[in-house]
Amino acid sequence: MKFIPYGKQSIDQDDIEAVTQTLQSDYLTTGPKVKEFEDKICEYTGATYSVAVANGTAALHLASIVLLNKNDKVLTTPNSFLATSNSILYVEAKPIFVDICEDGNIDLDLCEEELKKDTSIKAIYVVHFSGNPVNQEKLKYLKETYSIKILEDCAHSIGAIDGEIKAGSCKNSDCSILSFHPVKHLTTGEGGAITTNNKEIYEKLLELRMHGMNRTFFKDESMAKDEKGNVNPWYYEMHSLGYNYRITDFQCALGLSQFKKLDEFVKRRKEIAKNYDKAFLNSKIRPLYTFDGKSSYHLYVVKVDFSALNITKAELFNKMREKKIGLQLHYIPINKQPYYVSLGYGIEKTPIMDQYYEECFSLPMYPLLNDEEQDYVIETLFEVLK
Ligand SMILES: *Cc1c(COP(=O)(O)O)cnc(C)c1O
Repeated sequence: MKFIPYGKQSIDQDDIEAVTQTLQSDYLTTGPKVKEFEDKICEYTGATYSVAVANGTAALHLASIVLLNKNDKVLTTPNSFLATSNSILYVEAKPIFVDICEDGNIDLDLCEEELKKDTSIKAIYVVHFSGNPVNQEKLKYLKETYSIKILEDCAHSIGAIDGEIKAGSCKNSDCSILSFHPVKHLTTGEGGAITTNNKEIYEKLLELRMHGMNRTFFKDESMAKDEKGNVNPWYYEMHSLGYNYRITDFQCALGLSQFKKLDEFVKRRKEIAKNYDKAFLNSKIRPLYTFDGKSSYHLYVVKVDFSALNITKAELFNKMREKKIGLQLHYIPINKQPYYVSLGYGIEKTPIMDQYYEECFSLPMYPLLNDEEQDYVIETLFEVLK
């Protein structure tokens, strides 16, 4: 049997042909496929605008430039990939780490307590962890009651739905971000996007993606036009300090091809989740949450009380690896990372996160994982934990 990783992409011949066609076209970087891909993201998520960028981290960076000011306090989760809170630091704002709930998502009740205590808090960055959406009603309530900015990190959650609200639709937020890294639901190699329903935010994001350049609206008329009133054809202006965070046309061709299969991918992930749920029923392996139709299952996380067993988590990972199964851990509490500790973090009271970190790990979860491989993962896990 081949090595079974915790996550991997699904690439087929159609994907390869889509990329090849674009490589043979006139455009390698920004061309027609970028806008087509952005339109598809809007259609799928229900958001009005989307800006595709080089990766999910670039998406977070640009969203943070637009949403935050220097020294703004931002509530966020310790249970995420580094990039979520790093993007707050990029703009010299201040992340405040709030404990999680039993399902791995940020505790929005604790967020409300923080908002009551400190009225200078400006924003919340939530992550729909593992694809399981945070409660949208509560998000809406917090946004309206406390007039805060909200960013949804949807890197795990495209295809997820809470009530009628689809991940990335920004129904109760200012911006959402997506990632198209190969382990995520659909891939462009590297890639990401921001979605928003706000035109002003959209236009700022377009400018920031390309060095802060603007070719349509000019502030300096005397530079923009000649003495006869003709617009200088070469002219552009820089209106803000932007970056080169563009995505290429052939990446977007891949993304468009992947989108055609996204519903199938999510469906298969849900099947795998239901199989795991069933296998672990009434066992010492406790799923982080069980199937309820909401999660798009980027990850399948379980908890095990290692203090009651003769095996440590490191031993489990190593033994599973010997049997050609890759486990992963999502995530090490961000606030405990040495860099964050050097900034004074790591002393927050986050008992649920601390216990979660002791107990959690992620099992293989990707559309191409077949039933036989999944059975092998389940059997091996029970055997090693015996
Ligand atoms: C993957 C991921 C990102 C970053 O995306 P990249 O495309 O790898 O830069 C951000 N947040 C979360 C929660 C992620 O899982």
